[in-house]
Amino acid sequence: MRTKFFVANWKMHKTVKEASLFFQDFIPLTKGINDREIGIAPTFVCLETAEKALKNTNIKLCAQNVFYEKKGAYTGEISPIMLKDLNVEYVIIGHSERRKYFYETDEVINRKIKACIDENLNVIFCIGETIEERQSNKTFDILKRQIEKGLEGIANPEAIVLAYEPVWAIGTGIVASQAQIEQAHAFIRSQLKKFYPDKADRIRILYGGSVSPENIYSIMNTENVDGVLVGGASLDPVKFAKIVNYEK
Ligand code: PEP
Repeated sequence: MRTKFFVANWKMHKTVKEASLFFQDFIPLTKGINDREIGIAPTFVCLETAEKALKNTNIKLCAQNVFYEKKGAYTGEISPIMLKDLNVEYVIIGHSERRKYFYETDEVINRKIKACIDENLNVIFCIGETIEERQSNKTFDILKRQIEKGLEGIANPEAIVLAYEPVWAIGTGIVASQAQIEQAHAFIRSQLKKFYPDKADRIRILYGGSVSPENIYSIMNTENVDGVLVGGASLDPVKFAKIVNYEK
């Protein structure tokens, strides 16, 4: 019912040349895959190259960030219209690195999600607790707040994919246990049901945090996991292809 989704988040990695080399190696490894979705989120400067490379493939072009205004005097920012113009289909919003290093609040994230929906862009909305929050038993309070504020005023969730990314698991090599993932994803789905009683079962919930070819099989075999958001391991075409083809 929910198509599995495997998304590469390259963060601030790869020059245009390196991105081209990745696509040369990765695209042939995805030939014939049509029962799942694959997304790649390169840096803004690689979007055009990626768009050309992915043109005749099923791979979705994703962006790592966006600003909520359509245009104007916002030096250094990129608008949803500009992403749409490059055939971007999904935008990652609310990543913990944006929250931490660029001080993005739940309110800013909410505005960005709304701006994307207005331009018919899909959103990968990231949420997750820090280690301090988990250790003080605040995980569910944090997830609840992030969901409530992030999705405030959004009547139709059809363009939204959730990504549960415990901050302590991102880039650390420490992957959340199957039980931790299952509990968090069940909680997220229960919260979504409060907002969208008829549609919540159709919303995909991805897991992110030190996903690798070694742990993907057990992660994908966890209840309510509809795919993964992958940082480090997505930089290598062979590793990312192994993640996408996790059953083999
Ligand atoms: C991420 O960037 O969203 C992420 C989960 O990174 P990593 O896979 O490297 O932990």
